[in-house]
Amino acid sequence: MTAETVPEGDHDRSRALVVDDRRFDRHVPIGHHPERPERLTAVREAIVHAAARFERITPREATDAELARVHDPRFVDQLSRLSGQAGYLDPDTYVSKESVDVARLAAGSLVAMVDAMIDGPVPKGVALLRPPGHHARPARAMGFCLLNNIAVAAAHARARGVERVAIVDWDVHHGNGTQEMFWRDPHVLYVSTHQSPFYPGTGAADEVGEDEGRGYTVNVPLAAGGGDAVYATAFERIVLPVVDAYAPDLLLVSAGFDASARDPLAQMDLSASAFGWMARELGRLADSSAKGRMALVLEGGYDLVALEAGMRSAIEGMLSGRSAELPRAPDDPGVARAEQWAKKTWAA
Ligand SMILES: [Zn+2]
Repeated sequence: MTAETVPEGDHDRSRALVVDDRRFDRHVPIGHHPERPERLTAVREAIVHAAARFERITPREATDAELARVHDPRFVDQLSRLSGQAGYLDPDTYVSKESVDVARLAAGSLVAMVDAMIDGPVPKGVALLRPPGHHARPARAMGFCLLNNIAVAAAHARARGVERVAIVDWDVHHGNGTQEMFWRDPHVLYVSTHQSPFYPGTGAADEVGEDEGRGYTVNVPLAAGGGDAVYATAFERIVLPVVDAYAPDLLLVSAGFDASARDPLAQMDLSASAFGWMARELGRLADSSAKGRMALVLEGGYDLVALEAGMRSAIEGMLSGRSAELPRAPDDPGVARAEQWAKKTWAA
């Protein structure tokens, strides 16, 4: 079946959007740092080998107004003044001369992809972004992140009239910045699985949002060592039912690959197949509630082999709906505890 003969309303699984730009490589560490340009070289291989036709989004910088939806304008000003300089903003987070422009380009290009997803006809996408974003707070860069790409994109979708946006964050670290930005907002559901205790220290199961946003932050902290079975169980018992009940109109995934067994920074034990399974399951939910609109947005992942393999598997799972089956860990205490909190507070 060619694209021309796909009936209207049917999701064309052979096409996908992609954001990538060589300028993302110009965010360069000072000396050795795990968040390095070679990471994008690895995920680009996943795009090359995917069985899909990718349509490139024209990259563009985020505007001040787009950033101000989630960031303090004074922070954006401060960051802009660092353009042309190089140094460390905190012990983890560096800027090189072009980093601030690159960060604006990453956030803006994801905004452009969200626009394309909303406007159609291709509902699914992959964003190969650097620097990553989910630790960036309203008024502070943090954890390798300068601007919170996925939060800027979610806020843009809301401004375009999208009623409910879900962000699923399977990066091994808790996305503290994203959580903070939508803490009181029932229109952006934030669901995170992450290693705990671990950097950045947030993301306990009892962090559930406040005021109108209560219940719309769902945290699933998992003990170090958890692998495919633990994640499949956490998804089946918590992540997927919550997203399904929320019925988002747009699903964005903070797709880090640092929960991989090979990752040098974290201690989780995921196989590449697990990312395909998670993406397949989320893709099904996006198809049923969000007209298929779903994006994989690169966050962390610091082993180049695991990064490429994980991204390949995730793209395949999302686009083709095919993946390996995973085992289950029905007695995992971390999953059980998080499930109690999700049941207690999730607006059922
Ligand atoms: Zn991470």
